[in-house]
Amino acid sequence: MKTRKIPLRKCVACQQMMPKKSLIRVVRSPEGEVSIDLTGKKSGRGAYLCGQVSCFKLAHKNRALDRALKAPVGQEVYEQLARDFLAVEEEFIAGRDQAGEDDDE
Ligand SMILES: [Zn+2]
Repeated sequence: MKTRKIPLRKCVACQQMMPKKSLIRVVRSPEGEVSIDLTGKKSGRGAYLCGQVSCFKLAHKNRALDRALKAPVGQEVYEQLARDFLAVEEEFIAGRDQAGEDDDE
């Protein structure tokens, strides 16, 4: 029998441990570009946020993303992320709700 461990990650804003799948990954590429990674497959240093705008705002306020990514995240990057975040939020929440018990990847 194979037991599958659910990978847990911590939201950098509220510090809650959650299944990786229910978090949004923000990644800093080796080139230093910060972006939202919905696929979870982009290379680079990642930080996780729960899919809530409130957590994104908190991470902005206390610079949690900067710390997690070990790089200063510029204001314009936060603005871009905020737009991306709003754009993916619905899709993300819909996907998460649909996922239900069907854990197929
Ligand atoms: Zn959070």
